[in-house]
Amino acid sequence: MPGHSGARRLGRPRPGAAGYVLPGGPLFNNFRGQTGSDGRLALPGLIFVGDAVATTTPTFGRGVSTTLMQAGQLLRLLDEHGADTGTAAETFDAWCTEQIRPWVDDHVRMDEATRRRWAGQDVDLDRPLPSDLILAAGRADPGILGAARGYLTMTELPSSLRAVEPRARALYASGWRPDPAPGPGRDELAGIIGEALGAAPESSKVPVPAPA
Ligand SMILES: Cc1cc2nc3c(=O)[nH]c(=O)nc-3n(C[C@H](O)[C@H](O)[C@H](O)COP(=O)(O)OP(=O)(O)OC[C@H]3O[C@@H](n4cnc5c(N)ncnc54)[C@H](O)[C@@H]3O)c2cc1C
Repeated sequence: MPGHSGARRLGRPRPGAAGYVLPGGPLFNNFRGQTGSDGRLALPGLIFVGDAVATTTPTFGRGVSTTLMQAGQLLRLLDEHGADTGTAAETFDAWCTEQIRPWVDDHVRMDEATRRRWAGQDVDLDRPLPSDLILAAGRADPGILGAARGYLTMTELPSSLRAVEPRARALYASGWRPDPAPGPGRDELAGIIGEALGAAPESSKVPVPAPA
């Protein structure tokens, strides 16, 4: 990978050092608008798009879709506003807040709930169900999946799933839980990671930077 070569040339890379490359490292859920802290366009004449606006953790692989949706909308706005890039940027920003941000927020809710479950907690019925749990309930109640088509094809916003949340909630309240995905259990996985770490050469153990 070209991205790795610079880091290799520099010997053992350190986070933050020039040439430090961690492909896929900054895969956080993040939304950034076009404006600075003063609410004005951060760089008039330059319009941020794609991952520069929104990134989501790769649980669904949505980055290409959110990027292409933005590209299509931005091209429409540039056609509409011509040389008036300020108006195009502001209108694009409002559109991204309405149409793209909900996907980032959806991932934040799912990832936080997943983190709690991975830590051993049960499904939390005191909070809104995250989208992945609503979808999982579709295994026991196919009517839920039928209603999730717009969400799955991203032609409707995540809020569209709320219509079937009560059905999913009723299932979880009855004690039903989705079967875990096939694969190693927690202890087996810890063993595999331990073995891999033990076998890895010291020079390849790159410290992982703390999330920003
Ligand atoms: C490991 C990984 C797996 C992924 N899997 C999926 C998936 O399965 N499905 C999915 O939908 N999305 C996936 N994504 C996300 C998806 O790749 C991104 O959301 C998408 O590529 C963003 O498009 P973009 O055009 O905004 O940015 P990029 O595709 O990152 O394009 C930015 C381009 O700008 C170039 N560039 C950077 N700096 C400069 C500079 N100073 N001068 C000139 N050029 C520059 C870069 O080289 C790059 O070519 C994945 C991402 C990663 C990291």
